[in-house]
Amino acid sequence: SPQVEPDPEQPPAKKIAGDVAVVVDHYNARPEVGLAQRETSPILGLKKFNNWVKSVLISRFAHPALKESKFVIRGQRGTSRGKILDMGCGKGGDLNKWAKARPAELMAVDIAAVSVDQARSRWQQLRGPSFQATFAALDCYTEPLSKAFAPAKLATPFDVVSMQFCMHYAFESIQKARCMLENVSRWLRPGGVFIGTIPNADQLLQNLEGVPPDAPDLTFGNDVYKIRFEDRVHKPLFGHKYWFYLQDAVENVPEYIVKWDNFVQMAADYGLHPVYKEEFHDVFSEHREHPEFGPLMVHMNVVDADGESAMDEDQWEAANIYIAFAFEKR
Ligand code: SAM
Repeated sequence: SPQVEPDPEQPPAKKIAGDVAVVVDHYNARPEVGLAQRETSPILGLKKFNNWVKSVLISRFAHPALKESKFVIRGQRGTSRGKILDMGCGKGGDLNKWAKARPAELMAVDIAAVSVDQARSRWQQLRGPSFQATFAALDCYTEPLSKAFAPAKLATPFDVVSMQFCMHYAFESIQKARCMLENVSRWLRPGGVFIGTIPNADQLLQNLEGVPPDAPDLTFGNDVYKIRFEDRVHKPLFGHKYWFYLQDAVENVPEYIVKWDNFVQMAADYGLHPVYKEEFHDVFSEHREHPEFGPLMVHMNVVDADGESAMDEDQWEAANIYIAFAFEKR
């Protein structure tokens, strides 16, 4: 094929290498499956539970921030309010959850360009009153958001920044974690919220300690998930790496421990202060009797009408390798 001359006006495309290349290839290669196939997943119960946890986080912390937003669009279909940044948006699995909040605008970024295209298509197919949305591919842990979006797109601040199941990839190094926090905070209004879900470092490190000294490698887990550490010695704060497998979802991808106290301390440098942190099992027990989130659990098929869980024991154990959090910008 003919050689394409590089455009001298454009900076050369950044070469993705190292662990992050494994992450990008993995997420780009995962096919987008339709609704019908999604329902046949062997870990359907766990996927529904994770979605329910995200819905609780969004309703409890993002909805109030969106309601207080000064960014309002009045249209033929009524009033929509507030602006969201979904960082590490993946294939747009949270778009329906956001639609329920009736936001004015959503901006979404992910390093996996194929996933970003799929998220954009999903948004185009949303039924009912929708919202403005812009999607872009960006390595949010090495590059500023302003590289993906024109200044005018960033002129109105965000009310909510959401990072679901993706922030831990930034904890490879202090530089990446700081770049991520800068992107979260820089365009978030005071009083705005930052919500997310990350692996539960205490749980992971406790399990690592339980691996017998004579075990062939540093692996633990069950049929649903497996984690293999490379190093028993805890790296001080960043780069404590493990390989993660989750049935029908993640095929051995490098991830990093997020030490909560270190994360909180660093976040404070960016004006972000924690208002909520809970293990997924506790999110469940805290909200199962809640007048809104209890029935939502039945509606989302996390439990049936008799309260019977859709998860088996292995899925339930895998659920608790995560925590949910919310921060407020002050
Ligand atoms: N947030 C989505 C959800 O909850 O369905 C997707 C979660 S998926 C487990 C993790 C996502 O993090 C992937 O889409 C991956 O491409 C993204 N990611 C990893 N490193 C990233 C980076 N440096 N910048 C932006 N996104 C990144």
